[in-house]
Amino acid sequence: MHYHISNKKDWAKIQNGIIKLHPYCNECGVFKNVSSDRGKKIGYFVNTLSKLKKILGNKGYRISDVQIRLILKELSEVEGFEDTWWITYSKQKEIFISIIRKYIKVSKEILESVL
Ligand SMILES: [Zn+2]
Repeated sequence: MHYHISNKKDWAKIQNGIIKLHPYCNECGVFKNVSSDRGKKIGYFVNTLSKLKKILGNKGYRISDVQIRLILKELSEVEGFEDTWWITYSKQKEIFISIIRKYIKVSKEILESVL
């Protein structure tokens, strides 16, 4: 991944089908996410996992360090996950939830309550 820079704008379709002038990267051409749905750094999701561990622990379900490690490993292998230039928090949540549910039996509702 490179460091995206932009001094150019182009017309892009964004939310609600409205077309607006949008900055895009000079190098790869990816449009910048300028919505309020901004992506977060990986640290946020690491914290969320420890919160989840606590909540489930109180319910008597123990998450092991191995599970945590596997989730974080898989998350770090998702291309662009931490690329806050374009990624939205909604997209990150979707990816995060689907990876967690591969390793931990937990409902979407509980996951959404900690995110
Ligand atoms: Zn770029």
